[in-house]
Amino acid sequence: MKKLNVLISGASVAGPVLAYWLHRHGFNPTIVERAPARRDGGYAVDFRGEAHLTVLRRMGILADLERARTGMSHMSYVNAKGRPVAKMPADLFAGDLEILRGDLTRILYAATKDRAEYVFGDSITSLTEDADGVTVTFERGAPRRFDLVIGADGLHSNTRRLAFGPEERFVKHLGVYCAIFTTENHLGLDHTGHAYRTANRLAALYSARNNTEAKAVFYFGSPDLDLDRRDVARQQAVLAETFTGNGWESDRLLREMRYAPDFYFDSVGQVRMDGWTRGRVALVGDAAYCPSSLSGMGSGLALVGAYVLAGELAAAHGDHRVAFARYEEEMRDYAAGCQKLGDGVAKLMVPGSRALAAFLNRYYKVMPYLPGASMASKMARKAAEGIALRDYAVRS
Ligand SMILES: Cc1cc2nc3c(=O)[nH]c(=O)nc-3n(C[C@H](O)[C@H](O)[C@H](O)COP(=O)(O)OP(=O)(O)OC[C@H]3O[C@@H](n4cnc5c(N)ncnc54)[C@H](O)[C@@H]3O)c2cc1C
Repeated sequence: MKKLNVLISGASVAGPVLAYWLHRHGFNPTIVERAPARRDGGYAVDFRGEAHLTVLRRMGILADLERARTGMSHMSYVNAKGRPVAKMPADLFAGDLEILRGDLTRILYAATKDRAEYVFGDSITSLTEDADGVTVTFERGAPRRFDLVIGADGLHSNTRRLAFGPEERFVKHLGVYCAIFTTENHLGLDHTGHAYRTANRLAALYSARNNTEAKAVFYFGSPDLDLDRRDVARQQAVLAETFTGNGWESDRLLREMRYAPDFYFDSVGQVRMDGWTRGRVALVGDAAYCPSSLSGMGSGLALVGAYVLAGELAAAHGDHRVAFARYEEEMRDYAAGCQKLGDGVAKLMVPGSRALAAFLNRYYKVMPYLPGASMASKMARKAAEGIALRDYAVRS
């Protein structure tokens, strides 16, 4: 088998998982990440069903993840005075394993730092493919040659733009923006969260890391704002304009936002593409088939996609043409099933009118007691389990 040199763009979830499996199959992965160091931050991600757990178990990191699980008990919707008006048990929505995104990426980095070359603080600027490989140029580093280039660089993938075309062709904005940052647990929340919903807006605070800190989360409905993704000051200004005077803890959280170590802001969107591979370039995770951050499926789908892509490259003895075709075939229906879940959630998260917001607040009061209350969790599990994972033979 040819020992392929594979460049991966993006060191969040899909990138490190892919690097891990490529290395175990005898390939040579390099990861380039635009951020200067591993990116912490974000709230929780969920893994559910046998496919997710099997990949984590085969990577030998399931026990580490279980030790870091959030252990959330329930979440309360509160009124403007902060009084709980509806209580949602965590298991109505949660998967089998909920973990802070930052803890997940820390564990993935530890599992891969000796298996892959990591290059932080750089980004691909051009890809020129010929019969034997791809010449890659970078913003900072010298040009290098690779056999394959894989974009694991998320919803706004740089690799996708360079190899497939502009983002507008592939990303569907779901009409919602999201901001998340770490802050003080000033409400003394104990493995729980408070969420305050008004027309078109939701603000929430969840305790994290054994209540030693909290995650502030904001969602608001808006058409595409065409914001510069690196302009944090502008993003924070938009958030402040939207939530100032909104009630509950909004104003305090907006003040604390200025000091957050890990402010994250993004549109909620889905990626829809007819094909995820072109020549020697392929996409994995959110870059290829982002189901939206509201689906609760992004990390699990990225995990499975990376496992399958690496496995198919090994099964095809490094022949990327065969492997890429098999990867698309294995993942197509699975990704579509996971994406279906992301569609409707956006409208429920930030209902467009006061009447609908009030109705949902009342409905959530009784929902835990209704038959079929855990339907969302059952549907998510069904989608997450919608693939029969192959047991690709590994070399080490
Ligand atoms: C900081 C952060 C916080 C998040 N918080 C949440 C959350 O709270 N809840 C949730 O459900 N999902 C969250 N997500 C998204 C979630 O991680 C993904 O949906 C899912 O895990 C799939 O991961 P991915 O690796 O495909 O993409 P992503 O997690 O989006 O990772 C993409 C990676 O590529 C890097 N990158 C981007 N552009 C370039 C470039 N030009 N060159 C090199 N690298 C580049 C990014 O810095 C990032 O590390 C967050 C993502 C990030 C980056």
